[in-house]
Amino acid sequence: MPQNFDVIIIGGGGAGLTAALYASRAKLSTALFEKLVPGGQIALTDIVENYPGFPDGVTGGEIATRMEQQAKKYGTQIIYEGVEQIQSANKSFEVKTAKNAYQAKAIIIASGAFYRQLGVPGEKELIGKGVSYCAVCDGAFFKNQELVVVGGGDSAMQEGLFLTRFASKITVVHRRDQLRASPILQERAKNHEKINFIWNSVVSGVEGKDKMTAVKIKNVKTQEEKPFKANGLFVFIGQDPATSYLKGFVDLDEKGYVETKENLETSVPGVFACGEVRAGAVKQLVSACGEGCEAALAAQHYIENT
Ligand code: NAP
Repeated sequence: MPQNFDVIIIGGGGAGLTAALYASRAKLSTALFEKLVPGGQIALTDIVENYPGFPDGVTGGEIATRMEQQAKKYGTQIIYEGVEQIQSANKSFEVKTAKNAYQAKAIIIASGAFYRQLGVPGEKELIGKGVSYCAVCDGAFFKNQELVVVGGGDSAMQEGLFLTRFASKITVVHRRDQLRASPILQERAKNHEKINFIWNSVVSGVEGKDKMTAVKIKNVKTQEEKPFKANGLFVFIGQDPATSYLKGFVDLDEKGYVETKENLETSVPGVFACGEVRAGAVKQLVSACGEGCEAALAAQHYIENT
């Protein structure tokens, strides 16, 4: 397998796969590094309803697979290794994984973000035994069971609605009395017969031994804490950027997102960032793809002019 490329892209979500498509079509030798399966967060999404051109929506799995096929068709090589470090080396860059080291003239960071955990007692111990961060992956295990969903954003509403296919009842626990989600998702969730809301409250603990049996719900106004029986807990309280491998290499903001200039270049010339990992990104599939295109064109310009 070649170890030298024109462009190395880190992350195979919408941003990374679009960057790969554009870089490959520009006849740049392109490698895309992905830890698991290409598709990123889209691959874990049931249905995408706001990607233009699909009036009836498209499943996350289908669009992810099609994007991967399209990038591969033009020559992108997908390497299933997690990147651990990037270093500048003689006007190029060295990308290290646990097994190998690779070289590239330009780098595109598209490593996205991962779902945040609550950090409450019992949560970690019961992951996979009732606690989940992915409705598409785990929803089917909860047929006719009662679930708690935490969060008030688009993810909590969209995934909560998906879970109604399986669960008998879903209780959304939100720390305020107003949702953050877009109006269309709020309306659907509020009108759904299987979905109830507990407002001004947080999940303060998860109970159970080999299987989750209940959560503790605390009212943030009265501080009253009560057990609440449920078979599963799905947590959607936002994301953190996947940038631990970038510390000390490019400038990150206070939350760990990659800072970029106008052409999506980072603080290091020749290194570009796009999609959810980028500070200021609007976190939509369509914008992630647009940024992937922009980063690839900027990387091409950089390679041709240095
Ligand atoms: P988000 O918009 O940041 O919402 C996170 C939610 O979790 C908020 O309601 C927040 O409460 C709550 N929260 C945060 N920390 C918490 C904690 N420690 N305990 C309890 N609750 C907590 O995150 P997201 O829903 O994952 O969405 C991320 C981005 O992706 C957004 O820009 C969203 O629009 C986008 N997205 C879009 C779609 C779509 O277009 N269909 C689908 C999914 C995601 P507060 O409201 O009080 O802050």
